[in-house]
Amino acid sequence: MKKIVIIGGGIAGLTAGVLLQKAGFQTEIFEKNALPGGQCTGWKREGYFIDNCIHWLTGTRPGSALHDLWKEIGALGDGVEVYEKEMFFSSKLNGETLTFWRDKERTRKELLSLSPEDEKEINKLIDYVSLAETMTVPVEKPFDAMTPFDFIKLGMSMKEMGKVMKEYGNMDIKELAMRFQHPLIRRAITDYMPRGYQAYAFLVSYATVTGGNGDIPKGGSLSMSLRIAGKYKEFGGVLHTNADVEKILLNGKRAEGILLKDGIRVDADYVVCACDTNHTFHQLLPETYMPKGLKEMYGDREKYPVSSGFQIAYGVDGVFKEITGTRVFSCEPLKVGSQKVQSMSIQSYDYEPGFAPEGKMILQTNFSQTEEDYRYWKVLYSDKEAYQKQKNEIAQAAVERVIMEYPFLTGKIRVLDVWSPMTYLRYCNSYKGAYMSFVTTKQAKSITVPGKVKGLDNVLLASQWLMGPGGLPTAAAMGKFVAWRIIRKGL
Ligand SMILES: Cc1cc2nc3c(=O)[nH]c(=O)nc-3n(C[C@H](O)[C@H](O)[C@H](O)COP(=O)(O)OP(=O)(O)OC[C@H]3O[C@@H](n4cnc5c(N)ncnc54)[C@H](O)[C@@H]3O)c2cc1C
Repeated sequence: MKKIVIIGGGIAGLTAGVLLQKAGFQTEIFEKNALPGGQCTGWKREGYFIDNCIHWLTGTRPGSALHDLWKEIGALGDGVEVYEKEMFFSSKLNGETLTFWRDKERTRKELLSLSPEDEKEINKLIDYVSLAETMTVPVEKPFDAMTPFDFIKLGMSMKEMGKVMKEYGNMDIKELAMRFQHPLIRRAITDYMPRGYQAYAFLVSYATVTGGNGDIPKGGSLSMSLRIAGKYKEFGGVLHTNADVEKILLNGKRAEGILLKDGIRVDADYVVCACDTNHTFHQLLPETYMPKGLKEMYGDREKYPVSSGFQIAYGVDGVFKEITGTRVFSCEPLKVGSQKVQSMSIQSYDYEPGFAPEGKMILQTNFSQTEEDYRYWKVLYSDKEAYQKQKNEIAQAAVERVIMEYPFLTGKIRVLDVWSPMTYLRYCNSYKGAYMSFVTTKQAKSITVPGKVKGLDNVLLASQWLMGPGGLPTAAAMGKFVAWRIIRKGL
């Protein structure tokens, strides 16, 4: 029987695997790590569980093609409970707090009482968040295979989104923030997303929460990945872990198979690259095969920046109801990577009591990191001792700032783990340590890369990197599109 080899067992690779197996194809996934899931993962430390992906999963609300896809691959459905987020996040400045609640009318009220002089912009923002709730992620078939009729249908289903784009489509989050006079509103809007994100991305992200379409499956990120991997195996898929792929073996216009790092050769009729595309076109295949769209995005570091995180997990003795959701607050200046920060976030996982031992809780901080920060960490990483020391020093300084904000944590909080953009590079071969794909800045045109490789008949791509800004829905959609192409064409 002919065989499809999938390189990478992240969400894109697993999705392609499940759908191909279900359609009767024989596939094998080769994943370099000990567990499937890629970026959608978590790990244990000292009796705590560090969940490191899902802050919101777009597609938790029934009634969309994306929701159906999550169910089909086992991410949702089958009794998987979903935790309903009460808030998007909250920000604090000069003693005042602003929360973007799930209930947007509550947010409107809070914004209006905070800053009556911003009434016009506040009402507009909340009204457009309502419109943005209609946003859907199209996952039926690859965009390059869509007919004019498909596009008309899609346009009709998202006509309210057209209004959002008209109003907010030509500004970034900083410009959106500047429409408001109140300093806390300005700060809050730029607090949550990395620099360069467009304003509509803020509205759409908040709208997934207000629309009940961006909740969190119980068990968190790793559980979700393991459920999809379980579905893959149920359909007869073969998952090889600790299987690092060295390169794709080419013969003219075809791939003959893959070579693993340990020297084993695996023959294949199709090879699906479901890993980081920079890794694909620098390690697995010659760069000359890189699709035009990817070349354009990698080639312009201003218009298509990427970001990562410097992250800390804390164990807390006690359960403190005062800290819930994601909270951003001002802090004493602190150098993280190459930048000086003056605010930081704290996120509670109190919605999953099982993530911490009885009577304790786990918190996390994520400092957004730019490409410049990545360069800083990369240089430091060549001296492992210095790298560790720096990480620990920042983590200790962060704990002090958390205690300044929440004095009741004195003597009750300690660092469990610290990780940086270099962790993502090591774990997933991620480009510049990024865990999302390219940010499409307002100066840039939006590029979606078809999952085909010009000049190679049987090599396909499935990865969040094919469409900015990436994320779990994009990874799943790209996995589905590869399966769609193979199922249509057959072997
Ligand atoms: C802190 C954090 C928060 C996030 N929050 C959210 C969120 O709230 N919502 C959301 O939608 N998304 C979120 N994301 C992003 C989301 O995790 C990613 O978009 C998604 O998991 C990417 O999936 P992927 O399959 O495209 O890539 P990856 O997850 O990178 O999978 C690629 C796989 O290929 C493997 N691989 C690489 N090279 C090789 C090789 N040579 N041989 C074999 N295997 C190889 C890697 O180990 C990896 O398992 C977050 C990510 C992080 C880290």
